[in-house]
This record gives sequence, structure tokens and C-alpha cells, in this order.
Amino acid sequence: MSLEEYAKKRKFSKTPEPAPAVKSSGKPIFVIQEHHATHLHYDFRLEIQGVLKSWAVPKGVATEAGVKRLAVETEDHPLDYANFEGIIPKGSYGAGRVVIWDRGTCEMREQKPGSMVFELHGARLRGAYAMVHMKGKNWLIFKKG
Ligand code: MN
Repeated sequence: MSLEEYAKKRKFSKTPEPAPAVKSSGKPIFVIQEHHATHLHYDFRLEIQGVLKSWAVPKGVATEAGVKRLAVETEDHPLDYANFEGIIPKGSYGAGRVVIWDRGTCEMREQKPGSMVFELHGARLRGAYAMVHMKGKNWLIFKKG
């Protein structure tokens, strides 16, 4: 599918991150990875059609309803990436420490071009969340009231 960009940015002989593979699991999953790269950010990834659709959320996804956070679309990641924690070595794309901040299952409630509503069942994030496309790669993500 759309993992070409993911593969292009990485040398799998140099990074401990997983090589691309499209899979399907049972229940769709989500993960948020705290990524200590040049700038700390939180990578929000949602399983859609066998890959992890991905966004970098500079301030992290809010747990309180109505607090909107910028989410910048990044390349699709393989499903196995949801298990990745570790150090991306210096000189590799996204060098720095990656820690799983939250993970769980996700139920899509509504998916339209430019917007979606889904329910997250994680340890930290629970309940209905919405994402709305703004412009270019920019989206907003917030918990529904
Ligand atoms: Mn990242």
C-alpha cells in the first residue's frame, strides 16, 4: 500500500524500527509514541486498512474534551510499528528515543473526506475523538464533549 515513503526514509540495517509490511489485525488499534527527536512530539497512529495512518502531535493529544491540538500528517507506518519502543540511532531519520505513551483499540464511528470520529479504548485516552482536516498536512484532533 502506502509504505513506500516510510521505507525510503529508513535503512533497516541501521535502525531497530520494523521493515514495512501490510497486515490486518482483528480489532483496529491505535498507539501514541512519545518521540524524543530534535523536538519532542507525540506520534499518533491509527490503524486504517492495514497500515498505521500517522500524525505528529507537537503538544500531545489532550485528555480533556474540547482541547484542540495540531496534528501534522506524516507517512503511513507498518502495523508492527505499534510495538516499537527504543532508540533510533544518530544519523537515522527521526533519531532519538521512542516510548509508547498509550495504546489500545479504536472503533471508527464516522469517516468522511477531511473528518473522522472514532472511539479510543486506551489506558490514558478513552472515549470519542474527532479529527478535522485543516490545510495541507495539518489536522486538528480533540476529544468530543
Ligand atoms: Mn516522530
